Amino acid sequence: MSGPLVLMVLGGTGDARALAKRLAGDLRFQASVSLAGAVERPDTYALPVRTGGFGGAQGMARFLEEARIGALVDATHPFAARISANAVAAAEAACVPLLRLERPPWCPSSGDDWREVDDLDAAAAALPQGARPFLAVGRKEIFRFAGRGDLHCLMRMIDPPGEGVPLPRGRLVLARPSDDADTEAELLQSHGATHVVAKNSGGRWGAAKLVAARRLGLPVIMVRRPETGLAGERAEDVDAAMEWLERLAGGAVSG
Ligand code: NAP
Repeated sequence: MSGPLVLMVLGGTGDARALAKRLAGDLRFQASVSLAGAVERPDTYALPVRTGGFGGAQGMARFLEEARIGALVDATHPFAARISANAVAAAEAACVPLLRLERPPWCPSSGDDWREVDDLDAAAAALPQGARPFLAVGRKEIFRFAGRGDLHCLMRMIDPPGEGVPLPRGRLVLARPSDDADTEAELLQSHGATHVVAKNSGGRWGAAKLVAARRLGLPVIMVRRPETGLAGERAEDVDAAMEWLERLAGGAVSG
């Protein structure tokens, strides 16, 4: 009988954390997580973690071969397009089965006032003169709003922006998103927010700000997901990802 299925989860999302929790302690799997190292204090994972880029698709393919990875789950963020493209190329080169775990995007519901745009530059341009937006935008991308000197922004990010990063005028809050709509509504009200700017990440993480915007009647400038056009097997949630892995592990044992 063959041993456990050796697999790696490309992480950096709540889904990756939830999947790691399900895999930890399951003897059918020997799993680890890969993180980019994008945040200074990453969330904890229930599995061993490696950190840092692989050096492109070729580097990842080499890593997959050397670590004898038998399955790869790309559970990175829907807006992290480069790593997902690398995962497709690397998995193909190393002949490793790949699953893309990607939650469905959010859709506006009754009472929502959304304006959808293609990117953050378009989001910055869509804000009216003198707006007081809540920018749910990370430290690497916040500079895109810096050119709008008329705005008064509420910015929330996990780590402080690097020195010299141009910031828009306003208030900076260093925190993770809350999953409580009341807390998000209080934050929006404390700023006198007129708009919410968000990327369409989907999932329950980060959805509370949209519920808060709906309650307060605030328009949302929503950035659409990038069209990656990547082929391959997909799962929309952790249960479906586990089923895919169980099938693979079952095949490995009986095969
Ligand atoms: P990206 O533009 O797609 O990737 C840039 C480079 O970072 C990749 O080419 C790769 O470097 C490295 N990388 C990214 N994710 C990695 C991982 N899980 N393990 C090892 N290396 C990784 O990604 P990004 O938008 O900067 O996002 C970076 C991380 O933050 C991702 O893990 C993502 O899940 C998470 N995240 C992103 C967003 C967002 O809005 N983009 C939001 C929340 C969380 P090499 O080419 O050297 O391998």
